[in-house]
Amino acid sequence: MKKNIAVIRGDGIGPEIVNEAIKVLDVIAEKYGHTFVYTDADMGGCAIDKYGDPLPQSELDKCLAADSVLLGAVGGPKWDSVPGNMRPEKGLLRIRAGMGVYSNNRPAKIWPQLASASPLKPEIVEKGIDFIIVRELIGGIYFGDHKTYEQGEKISEDVMKYSESEIERIGRIGFETAKKRRGKLCSVEKSNVLDTSRLWKSVMHRLAEEYPEVELSDMLVDNCAMQIVKNPAQFDVIVTENMFGDILSDEASMITGSIGMIPSSSLGATSNGLYEPIHGSAPDIAGMDVANPIGTVLSAAMMLRYSFDMPAEADDIEDCVGRVLSKGYRTGDIMSGGEGLKRVGCSKMGDLISAEIKAKK
Ligand code: NAD
Repeated sequence: MKKNIAVIRGDGIGPEIVNEAIKVLDVIAEKYGHTFVYTDADMGGCAIDKYGDPLPQSELDKCLAADSVLLGAVGGPKWDSVPGNMRPEKGLLRIRAGMGVYSNNRPAKIWPQLASASPLKPEIVEKGIDFIIVRELIGGIYFGDHKTYEQGEKISEDVMKYSESEIERIGRIGFETAKKRRGKLCSVEKSNVLDTSRLWKSVMHRLAEEYPEVELSDMLVDNCAMQIVKNPAQFDVIVTENMFGDILSDEASMITGSIGMIPSSSLGATSNGLYEPIHGSAPDIAGMDVANPIGTVLSAAMMLRYSFDMPAEADDIEDCVGRVLSKGYRTGDIMSGGEGLKRVGCSKMGDLISAEIKAKK
């Protein structure tokens, strides 16, 4: 099969981690007889430097023309002082909206090899951590009107808005995902305070009538933040709005060991998806060859599974990541706990996973 992949390397550790994911994709292409063609697209700080715009239309067009998009990360202190609407992260919001990818899917699963890297107590980890956060991605407060004005003092406003149809389409993804898993969906909102959350809750309950096989529960977002560390085993699928999902999924990543391990997929109405690790550009470790590329490698595996219908190839990558971890290889962020661990850099980790895939029959 031939697939065109738009590649956004971005800023900070972005180029390093994307290199490793491409290494792995090339080995998969060779092993399974596929052709992956890569087209580089600029977004984020590097695009500001080159074009004065975090996502020029020409670069978005490359992504829209591709079969899918692989993204590293964008942003960094160099661009902290650029005006809000021209910040690197605006590129992220614009590509999500431009591609119409309204559903962000972030698994929080603990690898048994990394159980000791979780900050939670062993008795909590032993009960299992395996849930998915389905986050609405192109609505809510991040996409509402933002303004700052003077009225004797500075006042800022950010508008949070959701329509029934926006809630319904992400709700359906939540129910469908739960149906394919353990059949439990937790809808997270703040309906004791927010109108958008009350609408959210009512739409979820209306949808529940169409999915009798799924057990729907409601949870307030502040309680959810607590429950994720207290008893993560209770969750199967969490569905929530954009900002709550942003915060909860970072929290969920930490309990699995490291933010560097978690992939994500963002999909809309077509199979052209956006695949990226959930972390940022980690400027503190950029260019040092110490970043963990596994979240990006696993994002590439999600691309094969969800956009290219290549489940065997995706399984192969995930299995080989597990094998490399079982052999004790670790990047710095997942070194804690366990004996006989071998510290490796970003590039070496990519080499090890690639070699494992090549060697495995
Ligand atoms: P971050 O995720 O970049 O880093 C947080 C911490 O995690 C840092 O200590 C970092 O070194 C570590 N870390 C992150 N990824 C790692 C990896 N793969 N391996 C090892 N350690 C890793 O978050 P931040 O520091 O808040 O943000 C840095 C920049 O990234 C900011 O400009 C922010 O706006 C941007 N950002 C971009 C995205 C994105 O591109 N999707 C997401 C979040 C933040």
